[in-house]
Amino acid sequence: MTPAPVSRDAAAPIVRELSALRAQLAGWKRAGQTVGVVPTMGALHDGHLSLVRAAKADCDRVIVTIFVNPKQFNSPEDLANYPRTEVEDARKLGPLAVDAVYVPGGDQIYPDGFCTTVSVAGMTDVLCGAHRPGHFDGVATVVTKLFTQTQADRAYFGQKDYQQLQVVTRLARDLDLGVTVVGCPTIREEDGLAMSSRNLLLSDRARVWAPELHRAMEEMAEGLLAGGDAGVLRRAAEARLLRTGFTDIEYFDLRACADLALMSRADRPARLLAAAWLAGVRLIDNIAVG
Ligand code: AMP
Repeated sequence: MTPAPVSRDAAAPIVRELSALRAQLAGWKRAGQTVGVVPTMGALHDGHLSLVRAAKADCDRVIVTIFVNPKQFNSPEDLANYPRTEVEDARKLGPLAVDAVYVPGGDQIYPDGFCTTVSVAGMTDVLCGAHRPGHFDGVATVVTKLFTQTQADRAYFGQKDYQQLQVVTRLARDLDLGVTVVGCPTIREEDGLAMSSRNLLLSDRARVWAPELHRAMEEMAEGLLAGGDAGVLRRAAEARLLRTGFTDIEYFDLRACADLALMSRADRPARLLAAAWLAGVRLIDNIAVG
């Protein structure tokens, strides 16, 4: 009998239990297949899908994980308000033919009595780490769990969360997890706004203002490349954002790519990184300078 054709609209297969994931992995590993993982918190957009495509191009099997990790949120309201769109997410992943969408319940990640924290020192003291106490411990802990649970050979992360990418790369090396961390470019809306699940929380009015963050960064990068001082240019950028409607600029820093050290001039490979609040939504972005 000829098998029924698989519909391109079919949702991707969801796995909720670690035991079921392990059963699948056993077969793949026996067959010598490589496994790529794309860890996400769901509310998938084209940025996430670009990571999935990169994983599909490199690996025999691809697992997308969706887990809104309570340990990396600083406030209960932020956790409660985080967008959750599981049915839509599985539908978006269907045409990409991922092998599993792992959507673990909390008990699959943090079973009763869980009391281990993975903490990456130094590079987590600045930027988002300075403004979100405990955030990177939560990220490092869940990512370590996801790497070991999925037995991934390669893991795909966005440069959109540049500091997170550095932290995850470091922990994979330090703990000999046997996974290669691959950083992928930031995908943007046509107006320059970096795609983010949190963009869903912006009001229509705030969505119009939001691309100003990227524009201010581009303008500052131009000034830096013309030899400008980061402090002077930052003050101009912050004033521009406050005029637009941003309320709190947490950081707007020029930092070394290698170790995230603060810089005053773009005289070695550097990135501009920013975090700012707009109408109650925290937006982050970063771009290469030069
Ligand atoms: P999140 O669901 O926000 O935790 O993000 C999951 C992964 O998608 C992380 O590796 C992010 O860096 C990545 N990501 C989020 N937004 C983008 C984007 N606009 N472009 C590329 N990767 C992204």
